[in-house]
Order: sequence, then structure tokens, then C-alpha cells
Amino acid sequence: MSIRNDYHIHSEISPDGKSDMEHMCQSAIEKKIQEIVFTDHYECYAYGVRSKYFDSEYVRTYFEHIEKVQKKYQGILNVKSGIELGQSYLNPSEAKNVLNHSFDYVIGSVHKLGNMDLGWIQFKESNVRCIGDTYYRCLEELAKKGEYDCIGHLDYYKKHCARARLSDQFEYYRPIIKKILKYIIERGKGIEVNTACMGMLMEETMPDLPILELYRELGGSIITVGSDAHTPDRVGYGFEQVRKKLLKAGFTQITVYEKRVPRQIDLTEMTK
Ligand SMILES: [Zn+2]
Ligand SMILES: [Zn+2]
Repeated sequence: MSIRNDYHIHSEISPDGKSDMEHMCQSAIEKKIQEIVFTDHYECYAYGVRSKYFDSEYVRTYFEHIEKVQKKYQGILNVKSGIELGQSYLNPSEAKNVLNHSFDYVIGSVHKLGNMDLGWIQFKESNVRCIGDTYYRCLEELAKKGEYDCIGHLDYYKKHCARARLSDQFEYYRPIIKKILKYIIERGKGIEVNTACMGMLMEETMPDLPILELYRELGGSIITVGSDAHTPDRVGYGFEQVRKKLLKAGFTQITVYEKRVPRQIDLTEMTK
């Protein structure tokens, strides 16, 4: 038995989602996951830009779908409501509006530098440092002022470096990462361990041991675990490795949420 709480799942409500909520739920049940959170995307933009996807209608549709699966799987699978809120610091009033809805859990992520998605940028030897500096400055802004319960895929920059076969220069960014972790801890918030790249681009989690150990040293204790699944096969992916990794980093608990109130659950009991 391993970690049975997947705190980062996308459905087809997300513009990049590939599967409906029912299929994601079915996969979770097959994998003996007990609890999942649908954290569909909601991206905020700079310079007053509004997206064609993300508006109040989008959130209303999300809740319509989630209420259906919550009813359908009642007593079989605990389905919670969540959101992956991108760059909330770019549009604080819009972010606040979205969070007026009753979510169980909120991930705060940086996917974009300004309005430019990291996935759209061609990483090269000549620009990788400049992108990294900007990414971590944006993440600092989010950690300090943004809306979230946990920061999503904290070293997401690493994924895009791996895509271009470039180093993520962790040692160079360690000081700013430390500063970011301190803001997170001071605000009583947490981080997630994200398994999206495992078995695909790299075997590492985002973040992996060096950042997890740093977080622990600084007194961090709030950690969720998420597959960031966009397809049913990825639900709960790599969770046993994550459990071992967390124990190695000195953590004995992970965090679950209800109506944005955190509660710790024991990792050690999961071996029984
Ligand atoms: Zn993300
Ligand atoms: Zn995601």
C-alpha cells in the first residue's frame, strides 16, 4: 500500500486535459487510490489580457462536472474540488474572484513568464540562465504574495531544461529557492511533490530530494503528492517512489485538505 491521495489531476475541462472526470476516477479506483483532487487549470495573465478559456462560465462548468462524479463515486472514491491557479500575482482581483468558489485545495503554479508559456520558449545555452532567473523571480512573487495552498512543481524550470538537455543549475539557484521556501513556510503554506516527468522526460520528481531536504531543514512540513495526470494511466504514477523519497528526506507525514484546511496523515502507516 502506498500513498493513496492524488492531489493534482486534470480532466478535459482543462484546455490541455485529455480525459473526462469519470475515466480519471475509474483509473484511480483501479489503482486503489482513495482520494483525488481535480485541479483543472485556471491561468492569469499580465497586461489585462483575458483568455478565451478561463472565465466564470469555465468555473461553473467545472463544478457541474465535479458534483456529478462526487455523487457517482460517493463511498468508493473521495473526489475533491481543486484548481491549479497559474500566476495569480499577475491579476490578484481575478484570482480572488475565482477563489470565492468553494474549493478544497488550491495549487499555485508558474507556467508563464509574463504571458509567455515556458513550453513555447526554445531553451538554449544562450538563454537558459536568463529564463531561469526570470522563472525563479516569478516564483518568488507567487510564494510571497500569490494565492495558493501549495506551490505546484516548484522547480518546473528543470522540466524545460531537461527537454532541451540543459542543466537546471540547481546550485546556482539554491539561494533563491531557499528564499522561496522560507516565504512558503512563513505563510503556513506548502509544496507538492509532482511526478509528471517520471517515466517520461526524467525519473526525478518536481521537486526532488535536494529541495525536499532543504524544505525540511527550514522547518517545512506541508507536502501534497500529485501525479499531474492528464490521462487515466498517469493517475498515482510513481507514488511508491515518492513515499520512499519523502521518508528519506525525513518526512513522516503528507498533507490532505478539506475546504482549504490542511490535515496531516502518516506516511509510515501506509506500509501496513
Ligand atoms: Zn502545472
Ligand atoms: Zn497540472
